[in-house]
Amino acid sequence: MNRDKFGRKINYLRISVTDRCNLRCIYCMPQGGIKLFPHNEILSYEEIIKIAKASSNIGIDTIRITGGEPLIRKNIPYLIEELKKIESIQDIAITTNGILLNKMLPELISAGLKRLNISLDSMKKDRFFEITRQDALFEVLKGIEKSLDAGLYPIKINMVVIKGLNDDEIISFVKLTEKHPLIVRFIEYMPWGSLGKWDEKKIISAKEIRVIIEREFGKILPANINSKGPADNFYINGFKGFVGFISPLSEHFCGRCNRIRLTADGKLRLCLFSQQEIDIKSKLRSGASIEELTSFICNSISLKPEKIDIINHIKNHPREMSQIGG
Ligand code: SAM
Ligand code: SF4
Repeated sequence: MNRDKFGRKINYLRISVTDRCNLRCIYCMPQGGIKLFPHNEILSYEEIIKIAKASSNIGIDTIRITGGEPLIRKNIPYLIEELKKIESIQDIAITTNGILLNKMLPELISAGLKRLNISLDSMKKDRFFEITRQDALFEVLKGIEKSLDAGLYPIKINMVVIKGLNDDEIISFVKLTEKHPLIVRFIEYMPWGSLGKWDEKKIISAKEIRVIIEREFGKILPANINSKGPADNFYINGFKGFVGFISPLSEHFCGRCNRIRLTADGKLRLCLFSQQEIDIKSKLRSGASIEELTSFICNSISLKPEKIDIINHIKNHPREMSQIGG
């Protein structure tokens, strides 16, 4: 049931719960924000849960909650709790900028959250502000510390590396894995959507990042950890954590893509980069049953493209990354 027509197993659903965010990362959202979806266009939790149930019928067993910033949507622990009740969903995680973690961690853990991804591009206060346009580094670091203390595992730190902006911090980020069981992942910056014109010359490839790391630490070794995502993971002898590379631009990972996406305004997306999307909200709001939604999702998956010319698709993409969820 859960293979697409190119034989890829589709078992992972990323659900964006909001297009709103409390940061304005320069590569993701314009300073003045974006035109937001009206509230009535955003899927309710009940609608999201119905789609998740239908997805689980076709083999989805892993869900990641994203945004915008997912933790600013009211009552997110309730959603986690309800998704956890779906029998065949084995794993629920969240991707967050981490600002609200310090405050919300206890309720997220009570709801059943066991693992999370935290986006962090700089550990320097002024630079964090330059990238995110908010003075919030302290809160994010506190959130990471609390998540470690609470024993969440794995905690992945996602760093978008931008040439000339934060590539001088690569080594400091790797060093986080020396004493802490963190998985630090370096993500290639994508010149996306309306912000894509920002500067293509600032792309730094995973290979270049690896050279910088190996110059400092010697050869890094492949790590056989089940990370469920597109990252290639490595370890350094004696370090508690791991480093990973997510290289959408330099190494196409379409061949091992296992995921579909649901946007906050109710569109199914079969590929992060593609401009194609399928309106599941209209189907849902016209009264479709779970069985009908199941076959709708199943038919949609058959439209998943085999691979895509990424650079051409992400330039002038009609959605900003914050409206998809990464
Ligand atoms: N607000 C949450 C966060 O930042 O973790 C979740 C949504 S955010 C869109 C998901 C991920 O997409 C983040 O790790 C972010 O760094 C990444 N991202 C956004 N724009 C990007 C870009 N142009 N290139 C590479 N990664 C990007
Ligand atoms: Fe917000 Fe995440 Fe986009 Fe930054 S990357 S603006 S935190 S949605």
